[in-house]
Amino acid sequence: MNFNDIKSLDEGYVLQTYARNQIAIDHGQGATLFDTEGKKYIDFTSGIGVCSLGYANEAWARAIYDQAMRVGHISNLFYTEPYARLASKLVPAAGMAAAFFGNSGAEANEGIIKVARKYSYEKYGQGRSVIITLKNSFHGRTITTLKATGQDHFHDYFFPFTEGFRYARANDMDSLLAQAGEDVCAVMMELIQGEGGVNPLERDYVQSVARLCRERDWLLLIDEVQTGVGRTGTMFAYQQFDVQPDVVSFAKGIAGGLPFGGFMTNEKCRSVLRSGDHGSTFGGNPMAAAAANVVMEALTPAFLEEVREKGQYLRDRIAALGSPYVSGIRGMGLMLGVGVQGMTHKELKDRLMEKGLLCLTAGADTLRLLPPLVITREELDQGLDIMAEVMSA
Ligand SMILES: *Cc1c(COP(=O)(O)O)cnc(C)c1O
Repeated sequence: MNFNDIKSLDEGYVLQTYARNQIAIDHGQGATLFDTEGKKYIDFTSGIGVCSLGYANEAWARAIYDQAMRVGHISNLFYTEPYARLASKLVPAAGMAAAFFGNSGAEANEGIIKVARKYSYEKYGQGRSVIITLKNSFHGRTITTLKATGQDHFHDYFFPFTEGFRYARANDMDSLLAQAGEDVCAVMMELIQGEGGVNPLERDYVQSVARLCRERDWLLLIDEVQTGVGRTGTMFAYQQFDVQPDVVSFAKGIAGGLPFGGFMTNEKCRSVLRSGDHGSTFGGNPMAAAAANVVMEALTPAFLEEVREKGQYLRDRIAALGSPYVSGIRGMGLMLGVGVQGMTHKELKDRLMEKGLLCLTAGADTLRLLPPLVITREELDQGLDIMAEVMSA
């Protein structure tokens, strides 16, 4: 099918909930994609921070195939090796105590909210269930995670929302303290607000929040759905802030493109959820877990160092463009936000796509770059050449 055929089927039969780019992706290799008309693109999106090992990765595809030929799915009422192996790699790499596996970021965040509320209920009884989240955050699309998201426009239409969320300004301890109270059980935050515009939190602030959480026995819930699993150049972003969460969620990059999400707790919270308290039919599916094991094996210390180096290279080269359209560059590792001025971020994204570079947008005026972690220097340079062509004065 060509693009127009696909588009007309989509418009005929699919709920039109996405502002889709006007191309259909057909296949890819590494960090290079091809559309149905045969046009080539350098990919600075990896889905949305999902395809950490790029496209058509042999080891990844082989692991999925091999697992599919053994057992593609069995319920969580049975043990499976890929699930147990993945937990045994992920948990120590995160400095946590135990993991739960689901399928998506929103589902992972629902889980960490449940941990916080049950921990507090069992220790302090009813009435201590409020979770403070940050303005401009994004935590998912379910009714509860929409309400956890600190952006008013996500709180329209779908009433009644889950109660028990209050919002504080990022990097502002006074704002957080103004939301404190006897009814609070946790603080939940992203360390780099992704959808909100690639805004990294300040290190001092994050450490102060962690300290306050310890003092008040609030759980520190870190949403690493976008920042986790190597994206920022360490296994988890909190490892660069020198804090340790009580509970951390992850999803996007973990299985390199298969649906997978989950969370990990520390020792203190490892027995909060017990048999019957939580579950997921598809969670930790053997094929997805096998794929995630390949991702985890790829993320060696040397690989993570390369992620940091490639991120720095991208930043330096974009800064060196001296583009009148760039107001600033933010982020960590291969999670970068380029502030856009002089045109809208969507216009810039479309112009780059026209010339063969795929990028994302975030917030009101940010071009968001989340290339596959395996992107090569050559692919980075090809993408940067397109940026130079489109963004020079
Ligand atoms: C993408 C994202 C989510 C939601 O993940 P889904 O898999 O789309 O449900 C939650 N939190 C953060 C920080 C995200 O970037």
